[in-house]
Amino acid sequence: MFQVNPHYAKLPGSYLFAEIGRRVRAFQAANTDINVISLGIGDVSVPLTPAVIKALHEATDEMGTKSSFKGYGPEQGYDFLREAIVASDYKARGMDIGADEVFVSDGAKCDVGNFQELFADDVRIAVTDPVYPVYVDSNAMSGRTGSFVNDNWDKLIYLPCTAENNFVPDFPKETPDVIYLCYPNNPTGTVLNRDALKAWVDYARNNGAIILYDSAYKAFISGDDIPHSIYEIDGAREVAVEFRSYSKTAGFTGLRCAYTVVPKDIQVKGQKVDLNAMWNRRQCTKYNGCPYIVQKAAAAVHSAEGQAESAAIVKGYMDNATKVRQTLKNMGMEVYGGEHAPYVWIRTPKLGNGYTPSWDFFQHVLDNAHVVCTPGAGFGPSGETYARFTAFAAPANTDEALARLKASL
Ligand SMILES: *Cc1c(COP(=O)(O)O)cnc(C)c1O
Repeated sequence: MFQVNPHYAKLPGSYLFAEIGRRVRAFQAANTDINVISLGIGDVSVPLTPAVIKALHEATDEMGTKSSFKGYGPEQGYDFLREAIVASDYKARGMDIGADEVFVSDGAKCDVGNFQELFADDVRIAVTDPVYPVYVDSNAMSGRTGSFVNDNWDKLIYLPCTAENNFVPDFPKETPDVIYLCYPNNPTGTVLNRDALKAWVDYARNNGAIILYDSAYKAFISGDDIPHSIYEIDGAREVAVEFRSYSKTAGFTGLRCAYTVVPKDIQVKGQKVDLNAMWNRRQCTKYNGCPYIVQKAAAAVHSAEGQAESAAIVKGYMDNATKVRQTLKNMGMEVYGGEHAPYVWIRTPKLGNGYTPSWDFFQHVLDNAHVVCTPGAGFGPSGETYARFTAFAAPANTDEALARLKASL
């Protein structure tokens, strides 16, 4: 008689965006004449750029010709893409990463969700709170987070990031083995400066921990003060794996391409641990590679033309972020993030005695401004009394949403 993985039953029910969708549909059903604008979900709105489309067409034609047709490709990704990544994302910024340390895939979500397979069942996991839910749920499915009681996993180490600590996580009382960091951060839009990131790299080195560093939003950083990669920090090659994606930086959310850097120098307290070989073994066993056509498109993002085009798109989103920040600030709200990330994180204003619970604020904004935001509680306990607004909507929709917020809150 088969039994199912018992850990799935512990997962809390309704997924954040499903509940948001349910509430928006209920509102629309009762108000068919109102057009609701979403500053909620983190999906892009600008289409793929000309350089990417050209590469897609060319690669498609190659697939239809006997001499250039490609079947299974390397599980790790084609060399042309791995080398382009190393040259433009690492070597050009002075970082020493080898092409054989880069693993191309069809998404950072799957990589970051799958990577926990390489660790023992009883490793202690730490996540910043609020958090991108994939880190938590993938470990919950493997039974590492204990039981979910009172909105908390009892074996998960939460690193609260709130206005009180300026969104810089403090070192926890219990020592974690695996630490998930995401900067620029989703959902708070905040960043770690060089000293703060170095402190975490040193902490990992001193405590035999590993950092899984999600830098899906690195292209939204302006200036060179904020590290774009964890490998800008000395010693990070020994304690950090980095996840990146073309999704937000080049509009690939529907096309699907990402990569993970697994250095060959990873060690735990001086002892080498060949995570690179393990991830390679894992990928070769369970994955057959990102499509050739898509990898050609990703390589085009690294061309001079592609870089200029994606920078222009990112600038458009950041112009939105600036408008969202400024408008909400002018309305008297406590506003965070949105300077190096397409997310603006606000403290829900006081409607009664204290800060408004985030789902109440969500409903208030939906009912009065007909705008969708994301309630902070959906990202973890420290997100309560916060809400996220994204900069991914079209500029005209962003302007209209902000005008409504100003008029009705
Ligand atoms: C959007 C996002 C990603 C990208 O995921 P893909 O699967 O590559 O689309 C990764 N991490 C975070 C935190 C994100 O918000």
